[in-house]
Amino acid sequence: MKIWLNGGLQDAEGARVSVFDHGLTVGDGVFETIKAEHGRAFALTRHLERLTTSARGLGLPDPDLDEVRRGCEAVMAANPMALGRLRLTYTGGVSPLGSDRGDAGPTLVIALSETTRRPDTTAAVTVPWTRNERGALTGLKTTSYGENVVALARARERDASEALFANTVGALCEGTGSNVFVVLDGELHTPPLHSGCLAGITRALTISWAGAKETDLPLDALERAEEIFLTSTLRDVQAVTRIDRRQLADEPGPVTAEAMRIFEEQSAADFDPR
Ligand code: PLP
Repeated sequence: MKIWLNGGLQDAEGARVSVFDHGLTVGDGVFETIKAEHGRAFALTRHLERLTTSARGLGLPDPDLDEVRRGCEAVMAANPMALGRLRLTYTGGVSPLGSDRGDAGPTLVIALSETTRRPDTTAAVTVPWTRNERGALTGLKTTSYGENVVALARARERDASEALFANTVGALCEGTGSNVFVVLDGELHTPPLHSGCLAGITRALTISWAGAKETDLPLDALERAEEIFLTSTLRDVQAVTRIDRRQLADEPGPVTAEAMRIFEEQSAADFDPR
């Protein structure tokens, strides 16, 4: 397995990042997960824009996007596979313990791992912890994902694949690694960005392709929703058939099935949709 590290390809086994990397010691880093199908990266331009936005939000220098593109191409060419996840990690770089970020320059790692298509349906739970809709990191895809790790563990304990958060004012927000959509009175809604959710790329494409409305929703919309689905890079559009103890239909409902169909059709036709 080859990975990209700071300007070139290396064997993953031998590749080394400093134990004093600010990304490791204080979570000073940003990342992207990108779907790679047969050596092509889906929606790469949008992912690189979000990487830049996240880096700026954290005060990191802008990533060199020419290098990032070259690195993605090189890693995909060196590790051929039908379906993979590209993981870009970009951190503050080496910094002595206890000091601010050093001047040594950022660390860029691009890795690829093989994956399989997610099932069309899944179960989700709600968790008692909140997303902060007004935090310094809100909306940034940073490597500080500890809260998501804890919430996802709670989901796994309950045989679910995702945990959904409300924000500090009790509004439905997002999952640990996905955005959420609900069907109410036959209409498709998703929480707006001011709920504190990440600007998911699959979310944005689903809003424009399937015509969802951005609506402030209370958490208990999940108890009333006729249908619920999740969106993310690796899930695409995935129906929720159980939320907490509530069982929904076993199969994706009509609105979800249509959103799945449109997403598959449009993304196959346009691999780098703007
Ligand atoms: N929300 C969070 C917290 C995420 O980490 C992710 C993706 O990893 C998403 C939403 C979905 O975003 P995307 O569709 O760009 O994968």
